[in-house]
Amino acid sequence: MQRYFIEENLIKENLIYVDDYNLKHMSKVMRYKNGDEVICILPDHKTYIYSIKDINEGILERKELLDVSHELDVDITLVYALVKGDKFEFVLQKATELGVKKVVPLNTIRSVIKTDQDKFSKKYERFNKILKEAAEQSYREYIPELTPLTNVKGLKEYLSDINLVAYEESSKQGESSNFYQFLHKPYQSITIIVGPEGGFDQKEIDEMESMGIVPCSLGKRILRSETAPLYMLSVIGYSRELEK
Ligand code: SAH
Repeated sequence: MQRYFIEENLIKENLIYVDDYNLKHMSKVMRYKNGDEVICILPDHKTYIYSIKDINEGILERKELLDVSHELDVDITLVYALVKGDKFEFVLQKATELGVKKVVPLNTIRSVIKTDQDKFSKKYERFNKILKEAAEQSYREYIPELTPLTNVKGLKEYLSDINLVAYEESSKQGESSNFYQFLHKPYQSITIIVGPEGGFDQKEIDEMESMGIVPCSLGKRILRSETAPLYMLSVIGYSRELEK
């Protein structure tokens, strides 16, 4: 059944007055008729079945609460360095599918994209649309939050129970246990940090270490910047959800 995230101002008691965007999707793309059912995720992250009461006006009526959860049992914050446009968008989409809760764009010394918050925030509408559609598609109950652009100093705000920076030099030096070891400790939240195409500058790693962030390797091969967050998210998902 098709899933839609619904904003607070569209809900009136047991009815939803859908916005133009979703209405167009329901009537033109899905060709729903009155009486057809859809799944709606409300701002409190609860999931309900609604039936279409009026497809012309876009009015839905609540039918049933569904007792489901498709969320990981830990909160993951992904801090991701600015990379070229389409790669950043690719990671937003895939990280959502893999269960990320928050994405923090990071300005780094070697980021080839030079931008500031003003320029960058023009893209938020597009970025948020990518996050919402990926969340709907992957059966999430949360749309990941995209925070303002930050720099290494600003990372203090985004620290979790466990904080790891993927550092290519750790890999080159043969480090191989940090990521594994930390995932076997108890934690409720985890922040993972990935650098740009050119990697991190040693100064940035020193500064992160002074905040208690631990550098780790992602194995023997050097991954592209857009592969590294997906590797980390997959490993966390595997360690939390899959069983013998
Ligand atoms: N150009 C750099 C590699 C950058 S890879 C070089 O040749 O050394 C881009 C980012 O992905 C890195 O900053 C790091 O965060 C992450 N990364 C990729 N492969 C990694 C690995 N094997 N171990 C740890 N981090 C890795």
